[in-house]
Amino acid sequence: MLVLYHNFLKKYQMIKKIEHLGIAVKDLNEATNTYQALLNKAPYKTETVEREGVETVFFECGESKIELLGATKEDSPIGKYLSKQKEGIHHIAFYVDDLTSEIKRLQNEGFQLLSDTPKPGADQKNIVFLHPKSNHGVLIELCEDRSQF
Ligand code: ZN
Repeated sequence: MLVLYHNFLKKYQMIKKIEHLGIAVKDLNEATNTYQALLNKAPYKTETVEREGVETVFFECGESKIELLGATKEDSPIGKYLSKQKEGIHHIAFYVDDLTSEIKRLQNEGFQLLSDTPKPGADQKNIVFLHPKSNHGVLIELCEDRSQF
């Protein structure tokens, strides 16, 4: 019975794993050097998402990743975050198979989302954020792979 229930949950479990941890940093070059030394490997990708005013550097770490976030503009979300708070963990990103249906599920559960529809993020992902006040102070990102055409 327990095994059946476990399999049922597994089948309908939409959040698959922690895809990455996002870390907001003031000096992206300095932080890249630090994390390169810490993880003893080079980043596999750097990418600027101009619309969001953010520059990202990605490191692989097992089956998860570390995403360093630097602001390209002071009035971007990361720029505002860094002007109010210290550097540090900014968000946790969970990987999901089907972002649109997961958005619906979480809205039905009463979670507050920062947007109702997925938008393109870095690293070939579609993303959406859940408001920190829905998650005991943690900004949560959900991401799915963006199909490439
Ligand atoms: Zn992220």
